[in-house]
Amino acid sequence: MDKEPDVKMSFWRDSVELPQFTKLDEDIDTEVVVVGAGIVGIMNAYQLVLKGYDVTLIEGDEILSGTTKNTTARITAQQGALYGQLSKQMGEEKARHYYDSQMEAINEIERLVAKHEIDCDFKRLNSVIYAVYEDSIKDLEKEADVYKSLGIDGYLSKGELKLPFGTVAELVMKNQAEFHPLKFLKGILGIATDSGVKVYEHTRAKSVEDDTLFTADGNKINFKNLVIATHFPFLDLEGFYFNSFKISYGYGLVVTSTTPPPDDVSLSGHDGAGLSIRNIVNPDRSAATVLFGGLGHMSYEDKDMNRQIETLKLYADQKTINEDVLYSYRAQDLMTADSLPFIGKFDKQHDNRFVATGFNKFGMTNGVLSSMVIRDLITGNDNDYKGLLDPHRKKSTFQQLKQQITNPLHVIESETKHMTESHTDIDNLEIDSGQGTVASDGVGKKGVYRDDDDYYVVSNRCTHMGCSLGWNGEDKTWDCPCHGSRFNYDGKVIEGPAVDDLDVEIKSFE
Ligand SMILES: Cc1cc2nc3c(=O)[nH]c(=O)nc-3n(C[C@H](O)[C@H](O)[C@H](O)COP(=O)(O)OP(=O)(O)OC[C@H]3O[C@@H](n4cnc5c(N)ncnc54)[C@H](O)[C@@H]3O)c2cc1C
Repeated sequence: MDKEPDVKMSFWRDSVELPQFTKLDEDIDTEVVVVGAGIVGIMNAYQLVLKGYDVTLIEGDEILSGTTKNTTARITAQQGALYGQLSKQMGEEKARHYYDSQMEAINEIERLVAKHEIDCDFKRLNSVIYAVYEDSIKDLEKEADVYKSLGIDGYLSKGELKLPFGTVAELVMKNQAEFHPLKFLKGILGIATDSGVKVYEHTRAKSVEDDTLFTADGNKINFKNLVIATHFPFLDLEGFYFNSFKISYGYGLVVTSTTPPPDDVSLSGHDGAGLSIRNIVNPDRSAATVLFGGLGHMSYEDKDMNRQIETLKLYADQKTINEDVLYSYRAQDLMTADSLPFIGKFDKQHDNRFVATGFNKFGMTNGVLSSMVIRDLITGNDNDYKGLLDPHRKKSTFQQLKQQITNPLHVIESETKHMTESHTDIDNLEIDSGQGTVASDGVGKKGVYRDDDDYYVVSNRCTHMGCSLGWNGEDKTWDCPCHGSRFNYDGKVIEGPAVDDLDVEIKSFE
């Protein structure tokens, strides 16, 4: 019989058993502390332990509970029509250099899968950007010309690819890949722990002073090197990181389908919906399984999650003939102004602090690449990509400078909107069990969630920088539009950069 999925989970997380680890309950010394166990944390821990370092990996929640579990996991250097943009922005040489970095990461994943015989459905295939409107053909033609000038292995086809839906043009990039990301990372983590990496779950980093990291529980980790792999960095540098990224939400849908795309391609749409489409190996289902991602928007744009998912279902049904919806979810990633990730030294003052983030929804290649770059920075070896990806690279274009200005403006705009919204007074509030809402409480505001006769009343201000939180009825979380922090309805941090829980009062009316 077909297995019943848990719709709230991701397919990747629901189809793999992960090991569990205890929390840290003492002070320790380590050569390298890696904070955060997503693709970045696990890959960095792995590369460094193999170089002979004593590595400790701490995770605030459970391993692989962050964005990595909700990725579409296309492993590709084809990241939208990026190479035209990069060529214009920084010249052809750097654009080609970025392509090389991504291809190197793909080769590294393939090498590791073969070396450690990791059973993770890794396969090579072509990556395709398709256009459905005549108007879009010229964009793909321009990008195809850039492929030619840069020597990128690919070509433009005009409706010749056999897809299950109509297209007018397809830009193909050859020799890309896909995999089951959590099976891959489980395999890598196994090698890492067998080689000596110590892992602690439920151990949240709170602050760092000199070469000591303090956990939220008050333990100290004295380190020689620190790798910040928390997606949004939990530390900042006079607002540098907080102003450098925009948070983009994206939605995911996993369905069974009678007309899946061909097995030898993974797809992305050059259209308003920004769809990504790929097949999934799903032994629990007799029908083909397809993952759709898309409908991305910035965190400060107020969009109802449920409606977005319903719209994604409509788009998915236009592309393939689908049967059951197995999973649906929202996830977020960090976008940089120049579309390149931030990988390298965290700041100029410390030679032993490193960071990898800002992946612009391409964290599979860049998560792996980060582990190669940071390994080389720590071991003192040269790395071809360290200048290109350095978080402190020169922000030379107007667009890049503008992001530093517009991000705080969006934060202010979203804050003003929240401040002017009116809410029912908390004493007159009537909500059903399972619902949450913002309520007025004197001059301030509270977040209230009802679970049967228990009301969870939390402060409505993010513990990171004090922005107003919005209720996410699908996930039953309080989400911060400013920098992406998220809290469970009972106030517990589930996604950073916040490190402190919300104050909570539980009122029971039995
Ligand atoms: C909808 C969507 C689709 C995507 N599709 C693709 C795709 O097809 N291909 C691709 O290449 N990329 C894709 N991406 C991007 C990719 O998934 C991400 O860039 C990548 O997973 C980020 O990995 P990470 O390790 O940085 O973060 P995470 O996986 O979020 O890991 C960070 C970890 O740090 C922990 N943490 C946070 N704060 C603390 C703290 N203070 N102390 C301790 N631990 C902490 C968190 O709990 C978490 O486990 C997609 C992203 C989205 C949103």
